[in-house]
Amino acid sequence: MKIAVLALQGDFAEHEAIFHRLNIPTCQLRQKSDLKQDFDALVLPGGESTVQGKLLRELDMFDEIRSKIQDGLPVMATCAGTILLARQILDDPTVHLGTMGISVRRNAYGRQLSSFHTVGTFAGIQDVPMSFIRAPQIEFCVPGVEVLSEHNGRITAVRQENQLAMTFHPELGNDCRIAEYFIKEML
Ligand code: GLN
Repeated sequence: MKIAVLALQGDFAEHEAIFHRLNIPTCQLRQKSDLKQDFDALVLPGGESTVQGKLLRELDMFDEIRSKIQDGLPVMATCAGTILLARQILDDPTVHLGTMGISVRRNAYGRQLSSFHTVGTFAGIQDVPMSFIRAPQIEFCVPGVEVLSEHNGRITAVRQENQLAMTFHPELGNDCRIAEYFIKEML
């Protein structure tokens, strides 16, 4: 098994470190030719969605990644990655990959709360550390999107078939349980 991590910008190294703790090898996707490698799942890291979306297009990786997701490649997205998957960004005409039936609002927590750390429940797993950094909010989901986690009434993790998306960062720290969920339930 090998997990590909989009490594154009953002916290891809932290995602790789979590999978390495589970003894699962990773490879980095930095340019179009990297998509020729054999891999079983894709991680879209946190960072800056506008930069990631721009680089995906400039490096001509966009269509191939979108087709792979549409063809059923398991994908795990955090924060900016979730914005890339959303089929709608509220108050913004931009759509990136648009493969997931969710509407998101960028930087939804305002200045005071723009970054914070908490623990929450994810798909029945208790006390999962969750870091929110200029996080988006998932405001609407189409039928068929399953809510896996909420915090203070806000949806923070969803799954739609092969796609798992979170507004927080489970990869910051040592807790591997969300990566384990992804491997066990979606691969
Ligand atoms: N605010 C960022 C964006 O809009 C996401 C922040 C993050 O990934 N931590 O892309």
